[in-house]
Amino acid sequence: MAPLTSRRLAGRRRTLVEPLAGLGPILRASLIERFTQCGKPGCQCLRGEKHGPATYLTVSYPRA
Ligand SMILES: [Zn+2]
Repeated sequence: MAPLTSRRLAGRRRTLVEPLAGLGPILRASLIERFTQCGKPGCQCLRGEKHGPATYLTVSYPRA
């Protein structure tokens, strides 16, 4: 296998990035699934059968 020179790495990066240029707007976000406990006395969630999953989309913005 050829050594990973900076030139080879730049070429590899270009190969990976070029197909992304045709995409539309990209949302900088994460999709998260959470399981929760409601806190009601006697509820099954207190025995480990938590409620959910609830799905959340968290969007982050780069620092200004
Ligand atoms: Zn519960």
